[in-house]
Amino acid sequence: MSMSKSSYSQYNRKNWEDSDFPILCETCLGNNPYMRMMKDKYGRECKICERPFTTFRWQPGKGARYKNTELCQTCAKVKNVCQTCMFDLEYGLPVQVRDHELQIADNIPKQGANRDFFLQNVESGRGREKSSATASRPR
Ligand SMILES: [Zn+2]
Ligand SMILES: [Zn+2]
Repeated sequence: MSMSKSSYSQYNRKNWEDSDFPILCETCLGNNPYMRMMKDKYGRECKICERPFTTFRWQPGKGARYKNTELCQTCAKVKNVCQTCMFDLEYGLPVQVRDHELQIADNIPKQGANRDFFLQNVESGRGREKSSATASRPR
């Protein structure tokens, strides 16, 4: 991934994302060394924010069923969860359980301008470190 610090390209994307690799927990990612990630640009709507996002489909292991991403990367980053099973990436818990345990308020506005504003903030600022940490998985 080559990214120049002074890149403003995020703003050309109309608030929709287009990424090359999903944010996944290890369970969903699987251990198939020959895995091919299939990408479907704006293939479906995110379960949380309902914006179209780029979905991925892959086979986590030999003979395993194909998996799909269910959340957009922004929501996954905000909540630090897997895009597919929605489990917390750090604790491996369902996000509802984690939010309850850690008393994290669900502060993503559900719709409208508030939501877009919130997500834009996330995309242009915080949440960036998380994504680069997640992206640097071993090959
Ligand atoms: Zn979303
Ligand atoms: Zn998962």
